[in-house]
Order: sequence, then C-alpha cells, then structure tokens
Amino acid sequence: MKRLFSAFVLCASMSFALTASATTVAPAGSTLTPAQAKQLLVEGNMRFVANKQIANDLSQARRTNLFKNGQHPFATILSCADSRTAPEQLFDRGLGELFVLRVAGNVLVPTITGSIEFSQTFQVPLIIVMGHNACGAVEATIGGGKVSDNIAAIAHEITPAVQATKKSHPDLAGSKLQEAATQKNVELMVAKLKKNPELKARLEAGKLEVVGAMYDLESGQVTFLK
Ligand SMILES: [Zn+2]
Repeated sequence: MKRLFSAFVLCASMSFALTASATTVAPAGSTLTPAQAKQLLVEGNMRFVANKQIANDLSQARRTNLFKNGQHPFATILSCADSRTAPEQLFDRGLGELFVLRVAGNVLVPTITGSIEFSQTFQVPLIIVMGHNACGAVEATIGGGKVSDNIAAIAHEITPAVQATKKSHPDLAGSKLQEAATQKNVELMVAKLKKNPELKARLEAGKLEVVGAMYDLESGQVTFLK
C-alpha cells in the first residue's frame, strides 16, 4: 500500500512538473525592462522557427484570470495585416501577453497610434514595428494605379518610405526595391513613435524602447533592426 501511495505521489509530481513546464506565462510587462521583454520575443521566435512551440495557456482558468485581474502585456506590436504575420504565433506567446495592432503596411494612422498610446496604460516596456518581405501594401504603393480612397490612405503613409528609398538607392528595382522600401517604412514608423509626446517620458526614463523588426515569411525568422 505504501509503495502504491509512493507511486501515486511520484506520478502526481511528474504530471505537475510536465504541466508546469508545458504552460509558461510571461511575467507582467510592467515588471520587465525593455531588454528582458525583447529577449522573450527573441526566444519565442527561435522556438517558432525550430517548430518547438510551447503549449501556451489558452485554458478557461487563464481566461478567467485575465478577465478578473486584467491584462499585463509585455510588448506592443504593430505588424502588417498579412495573414502570414500573426505576432502571437511567430513569437510563440499566449493570451494577455502581446498588445497587437495590425494594419496593411504596418502604418501609423491615427487610430493605430492612439491604440499604441493606450497600451502604455499597462506600462508596456517595448514597442515593436514589424514589416515583412513581399509586403503587398508596399508593392501596391510602388506600383501606383487606381485604388479606393481607403487603400490610397494606406499608400499615402507608405509613400515617404518609397520615395526615400528610390532617392537613396536609385539602382534598386523589383523585389529589391520593395524590401528596401519596406525596411525604410519600418524605420520611419519607429522614428515617428520615438517623437510621440505621449511616449516621451517613459522613453527618456529608459522604461520604454521602440524597435523595428523585419519578418521573413518563409523562414519564420524575425530580425530586429538596430
Ligand atoms: Zn504586408
């Protein structure tokens, strides 16, 4: 009987250990430095690339906890609406961990900027602007042509990056131009956020960083820009 009981305890503790390691919730964003938050994203993306995702906690208990105790995301991420660029998946994070804004071309239109400002309510230590290769929004902006007023509003935001890229790299064309303009677009959005008066105090105090990134659709790799 004693042996049976020991076996039960061993089994129960093994099962607890497996459960504990299989569901990992990130610490509250307000307790992390920008560097620690970025490291969580780097590690999550490495798991994604290696097809070694952890079983993020999507349980009823987690949903109830988030409802009752509120959200404490550790990163705000502006990415493209492209269906292949979902931040929660490519950074391998679960519910309540990432504050995500998505719009074609990852542009800073007022409602997106306002949402990023709002995310600071949670003392999020890191804002990422993430573009990706083969971005249709950048391609459409380069191509020009007749589009609806709403799509034109997106292209209007991307145009400065296309113009700047053509000026600095007049030799580029096709996919090379598209990728250089996409990265330039990310850099311009990062620069805009760094000048945002609503973010100024936390940026200057070192409690917040804004970083650009590029996502590779095929490899799954995210490269952070310096
Ligand atoms: Zn895109």
